[in-house]
Amino acid sequence: MVAGVAFWKLPGNLRRGLSRLCKGCIDPAVLSQKTRYAIRAMQHLADHYGKGPVQLAEISQVQNIPAKFLTVILSELTRFGLVESQRGKDGGYWLAIAPVDITYGDLIRVMRGSLALVPCASRFAHEKCKNCVEEGECRTRALMLEVRDRTAEILDSIRLSDAIDPAPPFDESTQL
Ligand code: SF4
Repeated sequence: MVAGVAFWKLPGNLRRGLSRLCKGCIDPAVLSQKTRYAIRAMQHLADHYGKGPVQLAEISQVQNIPAKFLTVILSELTRFGLVESQRGKDGGYWLAIAPVDITYGDLIRVMRGSLALVPCASRFAHEKCKNCVEEGECRTRALMLEVRDRTAEILDSIRLSDAIDPAPPFDESTQL
């Protein structure tokens, strides 16, 4: 298992394999664009919690989210009971629940259905893949259950009210 091993310590073959990955090869389905937008919109609303409605145009501009897509996302978040809204000139959106009561785990579960990387490791959206071997004998599933549990441990312990220091961008010249 290579968990916890820094990239530069990986065996040569694995390093060479990873360095052949094209940009854009990473499967975005793990955290879709929609989920990432939803997180940013919720963070914006959390920053303005208790200060009245926030207009869609403001969230769209500050968070760089296309307005049409944001409308869909906010109405979904409203349907899930995380956001409330009011129409009209002084209307807008606000969090229906205090940021301290919303974890990143809950938010991501609501948006993508599960924290698991594969459906068979999900409790709520459990599904087998097409040509499943026996679940009880599948090492992939066992590994993915571990990943899910550790992911939940992190994401369920961080709340929308928690301060998160942004990480510096990767230095392109030192990648791979
Ligand atoms: S083959 Fe393994 S990973 Fe695929 S659904 Fe079955 S248990 Fe899950």
